[in-house]
Amino acid sequence: MSKANYNAYAEAKAQFDQVAEKIGLDGATRDFLRQPMREYHFSIPVNMDDGSKKIFRGYRVQHNDARGPAKGGIRFHPLETIDTIRALAMWMTWKCAVVDIPLGGGKGGIICDPRGMSDREQEQLCRGWVRQIAKDIGPCIDVPAPDVMTNAKHMLWMLDEYETIHGGRYPGFITGKPVGMGGSLGRKEATGFGVIYVLREAMRELNMNIKNSTASIQGFGNVAQYAAKLYQQLGGKVIAISSWDNTDQQAYTFRKKEGFDSTDLEAITDPFGSIDKEKASGLGYEILPGGAWIEQNVDVLIPAALENQISAENVHRISKQVKIVAEGANGPTSRDADKVLAERGIFVIPDFLANAGGVTCSYFEQVQSNTNHYWEKDEVIQKLDTRMTSAFQAVIDLARQKKMHMRDAAYTIAIDRVVFAIKSRGWV
Ligand code: NAD
Repeated sequence: MSKANYNAYAEAKAQFDQVAEKIGLDGATRDFLRQPMREYHFSIPVNMDDGSKKIFRGYRVQHNDARGPAKGGIRFHPLETIDTIRALAMWMTWKCAVVDIPLGGGKGGIICDPRGMSDREQEQLCRGWVRQIAKDIGPCIDVPAPDVMTNAKHMLWMLDEYETIHGGRYPGFITGKPVGMGGSLGRKEATGFGVIYVLREAMRELNMNIKNSTASIQGFGNVAQYAAKLYQQLGGKVIAISSWDNTDQQAYTFRKKEGFDSTDLEAITDPFGSIDKEKASGLGYEILPGGAWIEQNVDVLIPAALENQISAENVHRISKQVKIVAEGANGPTSRDADKVLAERGIFVIPDFLANAGGVTCSYFEQVQSNTNHYWEKDEVIQKLDTRMTSAFQAVIDLARQKKMHMRDAAYTIAIDRVVFAIKSRGWV
């Protein structure tokens, strides 16, 4: 699907409809699940450093909370739309269900570009977002977290505002907090590591050896950096990474055909995941166009940037060598591209399974925060691996048994669990 026509919410609904049809879901249940239960739209006034006042648009969408409080990140992005947030909230419902954690699906965002804002302005934005929605979120209602261009610092400002409004300490209100301030050890690694745990399992199933396998990754933010790190630790070689250059307003791909240590790149990457291309060139990286990450001769592609990055326009550029696409990002593959991947026999680890490590660890963080008892890092990482591995196994077992693609199998398991919850509660 072309970028102009792409609508993440339409994609999310179409994916759901397709599986709902296959599993024979009744009409009322379909209607209930193909749209959010609640959504909030609001304005956030911020006093800017230059003395002006700017009004930002903020959102929170709660797709479904039948299995537990809604859960999902807050994204800061200049191109944020309510439909993207609706889609992301819906995918969160399936994500929490597929890894079987007692949480529902939510998502939030603000249309803004934090790259051009001072820390003070960003703090005002975070506090303003909480002020607008403080009564409709909370540890037992809806628990936010970081997403694209938000981080632990933002989460702590949000927590502080929430606690000021509600007059108490509620560390379970938000996850992705700094370690030592209610955050969990292992949270920053969790999403990227989770992608590699399920990739490791997929390779085992396909009789591939992760050692000496090669990968190309799109994005070099939180998810991609830790995915690259663990993949390399397990013996894989990353040969290309692409990232967005905010000065040039375009992406570049950084390549070393012999493979590289991603920690070199981390040292020249800003907090928003943009790699300094002059410094990368000095370190011997080839600088290629942003889209080149997809056409590399590698065994594994890991899209870990944004949605709609593998589309009808570029899916045919994927090399014959590619055997697995592990979707680190949410919604990176359009439905028409997904069909092509299936026809070509490329094994897809679907987004809401592949990147569920983040929310799984957020759930661990919430448990630790609510009980005020914090676990060692090894314990967190071990529990994460166990949870991701068993979710992957359940999905591949169903896929094999019913001769389904992985995405449909993951949807079937997730939808079944959510339907069980809404029907047991007597909602439909
Ligand atoms: P991030 O902001 O830390 O990093 C995003 C990266 O994508 C940056 O390196 C940026 O340069 C790059 N990028 C943006 N546009 C690009 C383009 N056109 N081409 C190439 N690179 C581009 O974000 P993140 O937290 O790593 O999230 C990445 C994806 O993973 C998103 O889809 C997000 O919703 C999803 N996700 C994140 C988490 C999490 O815990 N952070 C959990 C689950 C899913």
